[in-house]
Amino acid sequence: MKSIVIHAAKDLRIEDRPVEEPGPGQVLLRLAAGGICGSDLHYYNHGGFGTVRLKEPMILGHEVSGVIESLGPGVNGLQTGQLVAVSPSRPCYSCRYCREGMHNQCLNMRFYGSAMPFPHIQGAFREMLVADAIQCIPADGLTAGEAAMAEPLAVCLHATRRAGEMLGKRVLVTGCGPIGLLSIISARRAGAAEIVAVDITGFTLSMAMRAGADKTINTRSEPEGLAPYLADKGTFDILYECSGAAAALAQGIAALRPRGTIVQLGLGGAEMALPMSTVTAKELSINGSFRFHPEFAVGVELMRKGLIDVKPLITHSVPVDEALSGFELANDRSQAMKVQIVFA
Ligand SMILES: [Zn+2]
Ligand SMILES: [Zn+2]
Repeated sequence: MKSIVIHAAKDLRIEDRPVEEPGPGQVLLRLAAGGICGSDLHYYNHGGFGTVRLKEPMILGHEVSGVIESLGPGVNGLQTGQLVAVSPSRPCYSCRYCREGMHNQCLNMRFYGSAMPFPHIQGAFREMLVADAIQCIPADGLTAGEAAMAEPLAVCLHATRRAGEMLGKRVLVTGCGPIGLLSIISARRAGAAEIVAVDITGFTLSMAMRAGADKTINTRSEPEGLAPYLADKGTFDILYECSGAAAALAQGIAALRPRGTIVQLGLGGAEMALPMSTVTAKELSINGSFRFHPEFAVGVELMRKGLIDVKPLITHSVPVDEALSGFELANDRSQAMKVQIVFA
């Protein structure tokens, strides 16, 4: 079977790997769609991010859907031929954080396509994937592409949980890649009254409007665009910081009202500087948000019920043999939002 393997920065190969057998409690999937994520792009562009470096070849990919080809022993509730969204979150369920229900903080997490541990955790961009049945959420009625959006959607639903009460709140979103857009959609679904989105490219801001933002500001062409929101110590109750850029964080903090909440999703390469004296004086709360766990199934359910529509975000689908050009396309923020690889 074909697998998409990263060896080093800009050294991405399509390699033949053996198909594995599903064990007890597992299923064999024929992969349907796989979304290219910002972290996949970090491995592709730089061979890692922050202190995380590739030390051995690694199959990329963690945003996938597939069709069940066969069931291992003891699997109930799933059927062959069924489309499923596959959660890349594989906690141990037994460490101290798992036992406290904080599965995303698992000490033994085996998240697909991650070079944080060594040996690296191999990813899901392969034609045939063995997964635990518990990772597979039935996605009947969705397209393969929508089902593969469950992962980034879950990231933003988790962030919305980390934001606290959303009903009637004024929200600022900085950074309008897929995570920014899905944050807009999640905040709106949770009851946000006003959502303003900020970025530095026109294409992503037009997509933010489609995703449901009330207003967008291009802070490159309009550096003073946020000025009206700075009056009376600031306007917004909640900031979703999705860019990982210190400048965006500082702008957002200036526009937050006293006792507002920062939800930090963006991960820059290095540690970000923070205007701490403003955080202190305005009594702001800082909530990091990292991955997800129960929110994955919630996202699939909301999509299946038609309460969240992610389809407009999928701007490109490329066949697996053209995966390399798909990665180059995903790098181009002037035209690509979510690029997905079509496996079958
Ligand atoms: Zn992702
Ligand atoms: Zn654990």
